[in-house]
Amino acid sequence: MNWIKNISKKIKPKISNLFKKKSLAPDDFWASCPSCSSVIDRNDIKNNYYCCTKCNEPQQIFPRQRFEMLFDNGEYTELKTPKTSSDPLKWSDTKKYSDKVKEARKKFDQDNAAVVASGNINSLPVVSYCLNQKFLGGSVGLEEGAAFVFACKEAIRTRSSLIAFPSTGGQKMQHSIFGLMMMPQSIIALQELEKEKLPVIIMAVSPVSGGVTASWVYGPSVFLFAESESTKIMFAGPRVIEKTISEQLPPDFQTAGLLLKKGFVDRIIPRKKHREEFSNLISILLHKQINKEDNLSDAQQQNPVHTKSTLSA
Ligand SMILES: [Zn+2]
Repeated sequence: MNWIKNISKKIKPKISNLFKKKSLAPDDFWASCPSCSSVIDRNDIKNNYYCCTKCNEPQQIFPRQRFEMLFDNGEYTELKTPKTSSDPLKWSDTKKYSDKVKEARKKFDQDNAAVVASGNINSLPVVSYCLNQKFLGGSVGLEEGAAFVFACKEAIRTRSSLIAFPSTGGQKMQHSIFGLMMMPQSIIALQELEKEKLPVIIMAVSPVSGGVTASWVYGPSVFLFAESESTKIMFAGPRVIEKTISEQLPPDFQTAGLLLKKGFVDRIIPRKKHREEFSNLISILLHKQINKEDNLSDAQQQNPVHTKSTLSA
């Protein structure tokens, strides 16, 4: 019966090919909105400040994409943050934590989950701290905490405002007490900015949770904004709370919309209005005139010039 097997071997791949789905466009041409499930051209999303063109919900973006939209002409300087241990406890579970860090560094071209950059918004100097939620959950350990303290010090040194974009699961479990110690250090760094009377803006990017919410997101003298009403800002997740109190939580629990009503969030600012609103607020706080002509057109923002350089910490 070998002849039957031989024929079957030859025919099988041809039949499989016949039924294979033919792709009409490259895989990265379309994107599915996690909020409304619409399938949209990625270019349309990009041209809409990386927001869904159907429901306008902001999509998850990387720190460098955010900086390109934030700073004048998309120009900014990426700052090298202090070197600390990325694995102080030599943590290991299903895999060595140091190996996970190495993989994430290679994948995102970042040393850790935080990226710090300096530049101008309508000619006003700004230092920005942004967490990449895709980099091991954007969790904050020694490196990300040190980067936040560094961003505060850099803002003081250059007399700049600080704008932070937290998107994180909270403090890094794998760093234990070392990660937790970054919470008070971050608060102290913010207090130094307060003493210098420099503006601090926190733009919550869904989700923001754990120790980051419990420390600098609700820190002293910060303006807490959110990108959309559905932005999640929380300490513990809803499932943990429901199990603890044995009650069902309302659907808008921990959303920026509800937190705004309760006075925990100052404003909800859509992504396309960030530059305008930030520069207005900073200029009011610093009693500075801003040149309205410096406001970039949409087209300029969509085709930013990206300069990346590094400074030593
Ligand atoms: Zn949508």
